[in-house]
Amino acid sequence: MSQLPLGSAARPIRVAIVGSGPSAFYAAEALFKVGDLHCRVDMFDRLPTPFGLVRGGVAPDHQKIKSVVKVYDKIASQEGFRFFGNVMLGRDIQVADLRAHYDQIVYAVGNEGSRRLGIPGEDQPRVHSATEFVYWYNGHPDYQHLTFDLENVLRVAVVGNGNVAMDVTRILIQDPERLATTDIADGALEVLRKSAVREVVLLGRRGPAQAAYSPKEMAEIAALEEVDVAATPDDATIDPVSQTWLDSGKAPKSAAKNAAFLADCAARGGHQGERVVRCRFRVSPVEVLGDGGVTGVRIQHAELQPDAHGVPRPKAIDSFEEIEVDMLLSAIGYRGQPIPGVPFDDGWGTIPNDHGRVLDSRDGAVVANEYVVGWAKRGPSGLIGTNSPDSKATVAQMVQDLAGRMDAADERPDVTSELEAQGVAFSTFEDWRRYDAWEKAEGEQTGRVRRKLTSVDAILEQMRKLR
Ligand code: NAP
Repeated sequence: MSQLPLGSAARPIRVAIVGSGPSAFYAAEALFKVGDLHCRVDMFDRLPTPFGLVRGGVAPDHQKIKSVVKVYDKIASQEGFRFFGNVMLGRDIQVADLRAHYDQIVYAVGNEGSRRLGIPGEDQPRVHSATEFVYWYNGHPDYQHLTFDLENVLRVAVVGNGNVAMDVTRILIQDPERLATTDIADGALEVLRKSAVREVVLLGRRGPAQAAYSPKEMAEIAALEEVDVAATPDDATIDPVSQTWLDSGKAPKSAAKNAAFLADCAARGGHQGERVVRCRFRVSPVEVLGDGGVTGVRIQHAELQPDAHGVPRPKAIDSFEEIEVDMLLSAIGYRGQPIPGVPFDDGWGTIPNDHGRVLDSRDGAVVANEYVVGWAKRGPSGLIGTNSPDSKATVAQMVQDLAGRMDAADERPDVTSELEAQGVAFSTFEDWRRYDAWEKAEGEQTGRVRRKLTSVDAILEQMRKLR
């Protein structure tokens, strides 16, 4: 049988991308942009709807950030692109199937789980990961069974002070009527309308200069007229180790801004309004108090010490404190979850890789034709845009690996027939487009951006009706 160059017009390359968040779409875009490469991209998502964390993670009051999906919609319009929603790797399709159907596989599965605190009392009611809370208010079908009893919660401790901590704090503390026009899940809006939460205590393990949030995220909370941001002079103090770090020029620009903002807060003194965000620094939770429901959190104080690079790190000291809280959200980072048949680094919670080439978990050898992008590749850091250069870099490796590859004309059966034979009710990008328009129209009737259905069956049923 004659051999044809892989990626030529006569023998386009078939690529499967697993996941449909930003890193997945940027990988598809990068593939379509490779000069004379002829490729077909099939993108799979376990949900019937695309866009990963843009739909399920970005806060409902950050609609501008969500508008990035217009770019993804254009990518999906490229010839050769297909979307298969409601198809889960390891459940509906196996890695072996992908290997049989595709020339290359890209894992763009993100980090769906969350890191655990690993302290006593963490498993009782009203302790949640921030990620669960985020997925819940964003209407992610897998998290709708959770209950957040906010009617009986006055004070919430949020552990960690990254941008996810900012998101959950803002959602909890603002007047819920501000969210009434957004695409927040109906059920979550109802719960927030009854919420008794009036105080969020942010627990940062390092100092104000090392706060992980972007200055503009904190400024957004401080700009809410019904909310005060408070810090004590002690918490806002810049210790000598942090000062040396700031003076060294090695600290990010945000460090000095965050430190100055907290100093201002402390200088303003106590808070005025009913709703307050209290910023604590150099503290770590060591135990969640309560017996069948959170009543407080025991924290240990820390001082900062420079690591080998002069970066201030916390060192616990022999000083403790108890804070009364009714709920605790842990916002200390996302974590990847293993997928059957896909290598996994349990320590990092990522797919082991060398610049995007997947490596075998046991012997570190390159797994031919398998690649990884986004958080599954580098861990849970960076903004949506960070994924564009990251995906491009992986695609560059994919293209390099194609050099000289030849194959016979492609006569493999299409994956569609396999999914149909197995009775998998998959959605297409056209289904999504019609459903997307329907969600927006539904929302419009009540002055909202969109109204999301929050169960897979309901979404699929609606998609069927719209066909
Ligand atoms: P993150 O930025 O890495 O923040 C994690 C926070 O948890 C840090 O304050 C960290 O402190 C703390 N932490 C980690 N382990 C801890 C422990 N064992 N005990 C106490 N505290 C601990 O992660 P993230 O907030 O989940 O955000 C993930 C990424 O998404 C970030 O790049 C973020 O900027 C991005 N994001 C952006 C937006 C937005 O732009 N609006 C919204 C959401 C998320 P240390 O600094 O001391 O490690």
